[in-house]
Amino acid sequence: MPPRRFSNWPSWWRTSSGKNNQSPARWCPFETRSIIDLATAGPIKIMEIRKGIGVSPGIVISTAVVLDAEDLLIPRRTIPAAEVSSETRRLQKAISASVADLATLRDSITTKHGKQIGGIFDFHLSLLKDRALLKALSHQISETCVTAEYAVSTVMRRYAANFHQMSDRYFSERVKDIHDIERRVLRALIGRKIEDLLHLDRDVVIIARDRRPSQTASLDRTHVKGFATDVGGRTSHTAILARAMGIPAVVGLGNLAAEVSGGDTIIIDGNRGVVIIDPDENQLAEHREFERQLVRLGEDLAGLRDLPAQTRDGHLISVQANIEFSEEIPDATNRGAQGIGLYRTEFLHLASDQEPTEEDHYKAYAEAARLLQGKPLVIRTLDLGADKYTRAGMANPERNPFLGDRSIRMCLHDIPMFKRQLRAIMRASILGDVRIMFPMISTAIELRQAKMILNDVMEELEDEGIAYRKEIPIGIMIEVPSAALMANTLAKEVNFFSIGTNDLTQYTLAVDRTNERVAGLYCPAHPAVLQLIRDVIRAGKRNQIGVSVCGEMAGEPLYTLLLLGLDLKVFSMNGPDIPEVKKIIRSTTMEHARQVARRVMSFDSERQVMHFLREETRKIIPEAF
Ligand code: PEP
Ligand code: MG
Repeated sequence: MPPRRFSNWPSWWRTSSGKNNQSPARWCPFETRSIIDLATAGPIKIMEIRKGIGVSPGIVISTAVVLDAEDLLIPRRTIPAAEVSSETRRLQKAISASVADLATLRDSITTKHGKQIGGIFDFHLSLLKDRALLKALSHQISETCVTAEYAVSTVMRRYAANFHQMSDRYFSERVKDIHDIERRVLRALIGRKIEDLLHLDRDVVIIARDRRPSQTASLDRTHVKGFATDVGGRTSHTAILARAMGIPAVVGLGNLAAEVSGGDTIIIDGNRGVVIIDPDENQLAEHREFERQLVRLGEDLAGLRDLPAQTRDGHLISVQANIEFSEEIPDATNRGAQGIGLYRTEFLHLASDQEPTEEDHYKAYAEAARLLQGKPLVIRTLDLGADKYTRAGMANPERNPFLGDRSIRMCLHDIPMFKRQLRAIMRASILGDVRIMFPMISTAIELRQAKMILNDVMEELEDEGIAYRKEIPIGIMIEVPSAALMANTLAKEVNFFSIGTNDLTQYTLAVDRTNERVAGLYCPAHPAVLQLIRDVIRAGKRNQIGVSVCGEMAGEPLYTLLLLGLDLKVFSMNGPDIPEVKKIIRSTTMEHARQVARRVMSFDSERQVMHFLREETRKIIPEAF
């Protein structure tokens, strides 16, 4: 994966200003007569530039596949010309079925709640029954020889975009209705064929309103080359997964999914958080060149792979990787990871419909230990809940899931599930340098309960004559302010700490890490967060236990000097981030890093911190930022 920053930005970006760097209009204006005329007017597409939050670096130019909330995936599929009439008949049938469904729904709602409420379906029905719509859809099928699904997806999205542009509130609010109609017809068309559509046969970028981590985890990695979503923040788990997978991603793009049609050409620039729809020739040429430059820079950094992460004055640092699946280990070690500092095991749950058995857990951990050949493997126990929700969680949502029954709390409420995992970890513990880590600890009692259950598991294994590592190192994540403030006490009961700066930042600053509306407030450089990190590292040192950082901050070159200067000895990050961080470590001295940290800790705003760190890091890697 190419590095995330580069000073040589394309000229269009350098000369533009403002957050929403958009071209004036995407669709040319058109004359209006009636709803149907408005909707069917064929817009002339022009390029549009959208600014969001870049969460995974790199540039990709590819074809869009738009996913809706139900994950109806409608790739461009062509049909032989001879099948055009049967495809059109299929479409007519689906529209008739949708009309019949809607009429029944309207009648039953009218009976129950009165005419006014039932009348909300009149718009749907009038649009679906209009001959102009059928004509536009049939035309799309016959002219471009595409499937009925693809025609519905593109034509309806064009309608939605046209309605969205209208200044009249009544019309602009009809956009949701159009999406409803689109889904209804697609469901009627697809029936049981959804499975077929999930199979990709060419490279695409995914455009969606939102992605659950489990949906991202199950993406076809060979063909999905990037993604862009309407919602999300930098440390949402979906964003973390994109980085781990090494594909460019931009989130927080507003209503992009409603405006893009499957088949549109899209540029996703994960470095600058920009998405360009229907780029012109100049944009394409500039981005292709930019893409080549990033690849060259990435190749330069790859040369650091076999060199130690050692400062110029000889201090050795351990650079480790975060993973979600054991399959990521070869790539991580190839990039120079000296171990796995965070194995997010909850993805075993999220990537499957079934709850994993003890054997499923064991197989995954045994494989990870085998691949690591004696290098450390920190297995974090299940951190489900919040944005990593299970099917049960979806069926019974919490009002405030980030503050709810998540992570270690959930495990302590479901001891059989917790024990299944602990047994598997302990069984795998003899296969390598396996360590165990409890997430989201917020009280000493919670830690003691978790350790008691682990002891029970050890006794059970003992009774069954199953071997395990008796002195397995036990650690906790420090990601809740209460744990950070009690670090000195907690340090006496564990072998190591790992600071989860993603959650520590959200809980310290009261900013939801997944909410793009407050993304501007989410900043690990906030002095309050930095003080907690400093104090946790100090508590670890005082009590002679290891401390690492495994939140996204550890993989951000901007923070490398600071964390080094605060005396952090273990950095755990997404594999693709390792070369850049290593380059900074190898380019500085501990003395310089300590000076940087002292200065940073004297600032009272995150802005000062970031400005200073940017300047200092630029002195080491001029092309950074
Ligand atoms: C963190 O919170 O920093 C962390 C590493 O855990 P996760 O991102 O999985 O919540
Ligand atoms: Mg966390």
